[in-house]
Amino acid sequence: MKKEIINILNKQRKYFKDNNTFSYNVRKAYLKKMYLYIKEHEDEITEALYLDLGKSKTESYMAEIGMVLNEIGHLIKHLRKYMKPKRCKTPLAQYVSKSFQLPMPYGNVLIMSPWNYPFLLSIDPLCEALAAGNTVILKTSEYSKNTSNVIKKLVDDIFPNELVYVVFGGYEENQILLEQKFDYIFFTGSKGVGKIVYETAARTLTPVTLELGGKSPCIIDEKCNVKLAAKRIAWGKFLNLGQTCVSPDYVFCNEKVYDKFVLCLQNEIIKQYGENPLSNPNYGKIINQRHFARLLGYFDESNILFGGKYDEDKLKIEPTLLKNIDYNHRIMKEEIFGPILPIIKYSSLIDVVEYINSNETPLALYIFSKNRHNINYVTNYSAFGGGCVNDVVIHLATTNMSFGGFKESGIGSYHGKKGFDTFSHYKSIVDKKTWIDLPMRYQPYNSFFDRLIHFFMK
Ligand code: NAD
Repeated sequence: MKKEIINILNKQRKYFKDNNTFSYNVRKAYLKKMYLYIKEHEDEITEALYLDLGKSKTESYMAEIGMVLNEIGHLIKHLRKYMKPKRCKTPLAQYVSKSFQLPMPYGNVLIMSPWNYPFLLSIDPLCEALAAGNTVILKTSEYSKNTSNVIKKLVDDIFPNELVYVVFGGYEENQILLEQKFDYIFFTGSKGVGKIVYETAARTLTPVTLELGGKSPCIIDEKCNVKLAAKRIAWGKFLNLGQTCVSPDYVFCNEKVYDKFVLCLQNEIIKQYGENPLSNPNYGKIINQRHFARLLGYFDESNILFGGKYDEDKLKIEPTLLKNIDYNHRIMKEEIFGPILPIIKYSSLIDVVEYINSNETPLALYIFSKNRHNINYVTNYSAFGGGCVNDVVIHLATTNMSFGGFKESGIGSYHGKKGFDTFSHYKSIVDKKTWIDLPMRYQPYNSFFDRLIHFFMK
């Protein structure tokens, strides 16, 4: 495997050095090919996502395939504009010249993707890296094998391996990849592995984007539409069985509306997933036995508020609400990443923000409220990657805003224009005219030039 990776990377280096990735027409043609291929192979992709995660057809399209098509459509539409040099103002002191920033692809990029949205989180950064003119080695997750196979077939059918190549595998392959010198590493996954990637990249000063996870809180304010909040949380929390990086990890519920919220949430879970979610064909499954066992360790008779049943053979756990959770409980120390939702009562919003800011920065934060002052207080003063007011999860489903973490939940961001920028370096260039040459910067200096400099540079 090591030989194969080194061989491919050398080919990709040469391909980039020979300027094969720079042309607008070539980039656009590949994006179009991808778009059409994905449309034609929608059934295969849906089937693979079903086999890996039990995802329903609707969910696969809504949260993976459709989002990828949107992203590619956006890149095709705006690519010419994104590739153009951006004119900038020139200071008077540099008269006469023109200033601009020219995007340049980094070169050879490594993308490492996780298993929870295996198609979206592989293809989305891949398209952006290609739109920006890079070559890519894409390392998919070893846990979502069926989707990895579909991705490999897509890549092999469309691209020469000098441009894009897919690597399968686990620990050993990851180590081999990280030992190589890339020009950019884009990693999506856990904080633990993110640290390894960051440390390894630092040795060769390789720039990185780290799309990590964390414990994303959801606040239910005293004054809010509790029923609607319950409906939206029941959807966003149990989507993909909570195996979503921006899933509400736990709820802070104002004590005055706690009983009402819990009741509404239970009703919504039954309404959306049925009396027996374990036999609902549109309710997915936990990725593997290890994660299944980890999740079961979070609850027992003493803290189940609702749900708690599971099916070990099918790797399913029903939507489960937990009570009596205090901040020292193990579940409050780790990202849950499953269909388990602790609900914690609060009386002071100031304490809630204080708690959020004194722990690791979450990837997302949600507040349900009708009180503008409270909404502004939470959104202004708590640190988090991104989020929603009166909804959950949907802030990432757009090409018009960047998506990424903050502090411990990630470094850098992508989606739409920001994705193109992430995989580009902007060269700031001054193009100076030669027909005039102002003398004040040259030796010998004198008091007139000194006054001129003070006039221009203040
Ligand atoms: P993970 O960190 O275990 O794996 C991610 C990738 O890293 C995989 O390709 C895997 O093969 C590779 N990897 C695993 N161990 C490695 C090692 N020791 N050295 C080098 N590479 C290694 O993450 P996961 O379990 O696949 O995904 C779940 C995590 O990802 C959660 O924390 C979730 O919040 C996060 N996530 C974040 C986003 C985001 O956009 N911010 C999206 C999805 C998932």
